[in-house]
Parts: sequence; structure tokens; C-alpha cells
Amino acid sequence: FSTATVFEEPIIPPVQVTYTQNLINGHFVDAASGKTFPTYDPRTGEVIAHVAEGDAEDINRAVAAARKAFDEGPWPKMTPYERSRILLRFADLVEKHSEELAALETWDNGKPHEQAAKAELPMLVRLFHYYAGWADKIHGLTMPADGNYHVQTLHEPIGVAGQIIPWNFPLLMFAWKVGPALACGNTIVLKTAEQTPLTALYVAKLFLEAGLPPGVLNIISGFGPTAGAALASHMDVDKIAFTGSTETGKIVQGLAARSNLKSVTLELGGKSPFIIFDDADIDEAVELAHFALFFNQGQCCCAGSRTYVHERIYDEFVEKAKARAVRRAVGDPFKKGIEQGPQIDSEQFQKVLRYIKSGIESNATLECGGDRIGDRGYFVQPTVFSNVQDDMLIAQDEIFGPVQSILKFNDIKDVIRRANATRYGLAAGVFTGSLETANTMMRALRAGTVWINCFDVFDAAIPFGGYKMSGIGREKGIYSLNNYLQVKAVVSPLKNP
Ligand code: ADP
Repeated sequence: FSTATVFEEPIIPPVQVTYTQNLINGHFVDAASGKTFPTYDPRTGEVIAHVAEGDAEDINRAVAAARKAFDEGPWPKMTPYERSRILLRFADLVEKHSEELAALETWDNGKPHEQAAKAELPMLVRLFHYYAGWADKIHGLTMPADGNYHVQTLHEPIGVAGQIIPWNFPLLMFAWKVGPALACGNTIVLKTAEQTPLTALYVAKLFLEAGLPPGVLNIISGFGPTAGAALASHMDVDKIAFTGSTETGKIVQGLAARSNLKSVTLELGGKSPFIIFDDADIDEAVELAHFALFFNQGQCCCAGSRTYVHERIYDEFVEKAKARAVRRAVGDPFKKGIEQGPQIDSEQFQKVLRYIKSGIESNATLECGGDRIGDRGYFVQPTVFSNVQDDMLIAQDEIFGPVQSILKFNDIKDVIRRANATRYGLAAGVFTGSLETANTMMRALRAGTVWINCFDVFDAAIPFGGYKMSGIGREKGIYSLNNYLQVKAVVSPLKNP
């Protein structure tokens, strides 16, 4: 492994932490309890900063501010074009502050700085341009109906949206949630993940600078069972959108049902198959399957975490996949050329190591990796298992780490059945030179996204979400707007001419 930098002194991030308080009604304020909690640098496990620890009382205050901003305006009463202009101004400010934001994201999350700076920040800007484009194009329909009536629909914002986001893509998850909610005219209380509270506070400040009225976007840092649960069960929140584990998604939906039946969208876990047929170019397939799994330290809900390879090319594929994993550059994510940084925190790090142990114990073949790197921070060796069977834990559970499981298949029927034999249905990848195979697979796979001869292609316009226990609803694209709109039918009689 190219791990030299792990043992060196960590590079000092080129950014300061400026915002650590909760944002409520346009002001940065301490938690009502006065409490704070630490956020850590995953490279070392050292504290970066202490941030306000929001709980039920802070959620109450934030919801009251969002309620007022919705009920009394100005936000829903502004013209759609005015709202669009604010989203555009915000995107420009993000672009201007991209360097600090990318550095802060890497510091708090551990992802390679080049990935944050070159891919994620531009995507953040693009997403807000996209949603700014929607803000003034949301409208109802008129439709013919039986009888002598004029019938029309109004597409109205739902009201106060509660949003709970995870730590793996803090800024992008912020954008997927906040973009459509604001474009549709809602107000927001967003709770960040306790591991990564810093960048949302920074961009929220940019929103204020862009002219977003106070109370429209409120940000609370804090923990799930306190702040998160208070938001999901709040009687004055009209909608809850959640991204995280399937387990927590069930809790959130339960809280929504037991409180005020607020509408719920969930983007949850996955165990996505990536299926490689024997007519594929092996080198390209190896590279893509490697990317599909190892991207973002393996911390992607849609990671291609079951690599199915046709038996005719299996042995060659395994050799090459191993060689590629051994070449993966792991180290300080601030260093140029680094492909993989540390896992997010000690809990996830330990969990990944436990799954590796389980893979070894269940007699999968450990081709490479299998251990931590260094003695501080949360670095894990890129790990490849071959001879993985469908019933092994590593082929069933979401590991959320740099652990590739390679399975063998013999025909298309066999692989369709096995690929679909999971409680998840978030994404799937197919690699083949045959159009017929690609089309057959694309229809047969029960997943919210099927990538053919590509993987992890995200675009503001492409909807994303899960079948089965991977979630409810779609984010991004035109489909995301439905999550944040009510449809009002208006019916009135016509006079007979
Ligand atoms: P992970 O296990 O990867 O941290 P979670 O699903 O637990 O994933 O976390 C995703 C988000 O859900 C985080 O913002 C977290 O604070 C929040 N969360 C965790 N538990 C709850 C809960 N009981 N109610 C509401 N939100 C929660």
C-alpha cells in the first residue's frame, strides 16, 4: 500500500473554523442547554472544534422560527423569481468560497481534498443552479372533468420541512435536501450529522449573505436520538426528509407516524450489485468495480458492494482487482494524489474491521488488506475478498468501508435472481458489451438506479432513491419537487352560456 503519509505529521488544513453555533432565525446562537460536543479530525482522532449541541429545545426554537417565516412570510410570499435569484446568489458565493469549503469538508470528514474540491464543490454549485432554475417553473395544471366545472390544481409548498442528513457527503446531502425545499417555497430546520457539523454552518452563513430571509433555513448540530428525534416527532413540522441507515429510517418514519403523520421521504442503505459479464473489457471492468466500491472510503449508500463476475473471467478479474486495490493511494486526504483517506470515526472504523473479521471467519478468501493502517486515525487497508457466497454476512450487510466482495456467477438468470435477493434496492451496475444483455438486466434489476457501463454518475437532473428497504421517494431531478409540494385541487362551477 502507498501509505507513507499516514505516518507523517498531518498536513495543517488551509482553513479556520468560524461557525460552531446553531443557526436559528438568522442568528448564530449557543444551544439552549449551553452544551457543546466535539467534532473530530478522522486523520488523528483529535478534536477540531466544539460545536453547540442542539436538543429538543433548540429544535422547538428553530421550528418556531421556520413556522413564522413560512406563515407570515416573506419567503412563500416572495415571487418565485426572487427566490430563484437568492439561490443563484448563494451558488455564486459557494463558488467564491469553494477552497475554504473543500478544506473544511476534508478536515471534518476525511475525504480526499481533491475529490471535495474538484468534484463535490462544483456539484454543489451545479445543484443550486439547477434548483434555482426550477423555482419559477413550478405550477399546477388545468384539466377537463365531467360536468360543468372549471378544475385546476395549485402546487403549493408543504410548509416547514425537517431534514436530517448523514456524514458521508455533508455538503451534497445538504444540497439534495435544501435545494428542492427552498425552490418550492418551504422553510427548513436541518439537523446535520454529529460527525460532520461544520460545513453546513458555513454555507448557511453564505445563504444569509445571499439574502435568504431569517428563519427560512435553520441549522441545528446535535445527536440523532435527541435533536433528530425531536425534529421527526415535532407536531409543527409538515414534512421530514431523512438520509441515513435503514435502521434509523424506520425510527424516523415511526416518529413521524406517531406524531402528526408528517410526510416522509427516506434515502437509506444499500447492498448494490455490480455485475460484470464475460463480454466486457476486463481492465475497464476492474477499474470501474474498484471505483464503485472504494469511492469515498467505501462510505456510499450506493456502493457497488457485491461484485458479481462471470465465471469465465473470474480468476483474471480477481487478480487484477487485487492488484488495483494494493495500488490504491491511502493517506492524508490533504495530500495530492491520495485516493483514500480515513473512515469517518472510531465507531465506523471498528465496524468495518469487524466485518473484515467476519469475512475471514466465514472462509471467504482474503486477497489483500484486512487490517488498519498506522496506529492513529481511522485508516483501513483497501481489502478484497474473493470466493464470497451470497449467504455470508459480508455479502448481505452494508459494510460502509473499503471492502470489496467478489462473487462468481454463471448465467444471466442466475445473476438476476441473486442480485435481487436482498432487502435493499438502491442501485445496481452492469458491465457488458452487449446491448441485449444491458437492456435485459436494466429491466430485471429491482433498484432505483441502474448504471450501465458506468457507476456513481450523479447529476442534478438524475433522480436518486431506493426500492424496497432502501427508501421512499426520489431526490434530485424533477421527482424531488414532489417531496416538497402539496397539490390543491380547485373546483368551481361554470355558468351555462
Ligand atoms: P450512521 O449509523 O451512518 O451514523 P444514522 O442513520 O444513524 O447513520 O445517522 C444519519 C443521521 O440520522 C444523523 O444525522 C443522525 O444524527 C440521525 N439520527 C440517528 N438516530 C436518530 C434518531 N433516533 N432519530 C432521528 N435522527 C437520528
